[in-house]
Amino acid sequence: STFESAPLRREILSLFASKNFKKPSPIQAQCWPIMLASHDIVGIAETGSGKTLAFSVPALEILKKSVTSKNVKPKMLVLAPTRELAQQSYEVLEEFGSCLGLRSVVIFGGVPKYDQTRVLKRGVEIVVATPGRLKDLVNEGICDLSEVSFLVLDEADRMLDMGFEMDVRYIIGKCEEKERRQTAMFSATWPAAIQKLAGEFMNEVTRVYV
Ligand code: AMP
Repeated sequence: STFESAPLRREILSLFASKNFKKPSPIQAQCWPIMLASHDIVGIAETGSGKTLAFSVPALEILKKSVTSKNVKPKMLVLAPTRELAQQSYEVLEEFGSCLGLRSVVIFGGVPKYDQTRVLKRGVEIVVATPGRLKDLVNEGICDLSEVSFLVLDEADRMLDMGFEMDVRYIIGKCEEKERRQTAMFSATWPAAIQKLAGEFMNEVTRVYV
């Protein structure tokens, strides 16, 4: 398949062209039609497969249709297990999102809250975060997730392995309810604990493997 066979905005196609990406990676080719049709998805994929753009491209296309210029509350949330992974996804969403006028912030622990708080108060459509710090900011009333209608759980198996399950559950509980939300989960493995999470927090589980 080619980029042109997907119904993508000119701005996104030009970014792919400028990066010299020739065609969608296998996980992108599998995820895009399903996600663009507003379905939930579980991708069994490793980092390096192109999964960041597999979820970011359809999410941005869908957000762009629903976000108004007066938007103040985040509409998309990406949860990631580590600061490095959050930062990587943020950089992709920031680059592809900013060409559509969508603003992003990355949130993780180990640094002062001040800058993260300031960006959140200014208004963002997209939050990329590790669970611990995000939970604090939600608790403190600094981050309002009540309008998050696009949720991505990246490296879900690692988030559980790292002991984030309670935080992840707390955070998902603050987002739009699952019927009013599109959810994508990526995981390198598909153990029982992940299947349970998917069963609870997703509307239907379409799995794709890479
Ligand atoms: P990820 O698995 O999302 O961390 O992506 C791994 C690497 O593949 C990143 O450096 C991306 O920039 C690159 N990449 C993503 N999609 C494509 C594509 N369609 N063609 C070529 N490279 C890509």
